[in-house]
Amino acid sequence: MPGNPNEIKLVNNAMSNATRRKIMNFLEAGEKSTEEIGEEIGKSMLDFHLKVLQQASLIELEEGTAKLSEYGRNFLKGKEDKGAEKNSDLSQAKPVEIVEVRQLLPCIADSSKFRVIANMAPPLGGTLKVLEPLFPRSRYSDRISALITQKGEIITTLYGTGKVTMTMIKNEDEAREALENLRGIVNEAIAKGIAPVPREKVRVEPMEIYKYLPQTNCGKCGEQSCYTFAIKLMGGETNLEKCTPLKEPDYATNFEHLQVLSAYI
Ligand code: SF4
Repeated sequence: MPGNPNEIKLVNNAMSNATRRKIMNFLEAGEKSTEEIGEEIGKSMLDFHLKVLQQASLIELEEGTAKLSEYGRNFLKGKEDKGAEKNSDLSQAKPVEIVEVRQLLPCIADSSKFRVIANMAPPLGGTLKVLEPLFPRSRYSDRISALITQKGEIITTLYGTGKVTMTMIKNEDEAREALENLRGIVNEAIAKGIAPVPREKVRVEPMEIYKYLPQTNCGKCGEQSCYTFAIKLMGGETNLEKCTPLKEPDYATNFEHLQVLSAYI
């Protein structure tokens, strides 16, 4: 069982590769023939990957079959116990494709823009959560199990089910370009097999918050003006729920924008 620094280095090296992590996860179900592993994971450099895992004492190889060693089994179990670590592993995720752009509806906030509903497959489920750092402005919502990202005026919500909604889209070409961009970013991370390193949060200015508030200075939030509300929101002295006009349908898109922005305050 690995214990000294060199042996631990072998384990780290073995597990730093997405293909080898996939092999380990595949073997969790029990002993497999190299043929079965090749069919599931791919045959390219399979012998090499198996050898690396064997040298790290993570698997045992015998007459065309492979199985987890006791150490390998405990290693995976240790990862499972540390839930966060398991979440950061994308080795089980499959590349996504855009399978459908279903509807183009006028946007509530600006009728010259569109709301797009699309679908990506296969669904990413909870894996979405670890993709959050890929986007400079984004947040994962546990409540709706979705990753919400913002780029310029466009807000994209990617649900664990594969459904995608986009707001403030000019036309179908822009929608398809934005969806392709999203697909490319997600698939690049999946190809690497590991969660992206958290990015520095993008700084939000009060004027940016103010831009999406109703700007009626109605006082319902208890503040004298929307700008004062924006400054207090930045300082953590109030919260978005206090601006009740934002719950009106006309401000639905603004509210979505503010929810994303408030994640960076
Ligand atoms: S409730 Fe909303 S719209 Fe009214 S003043 Fe406060 S921030 Fe502005």
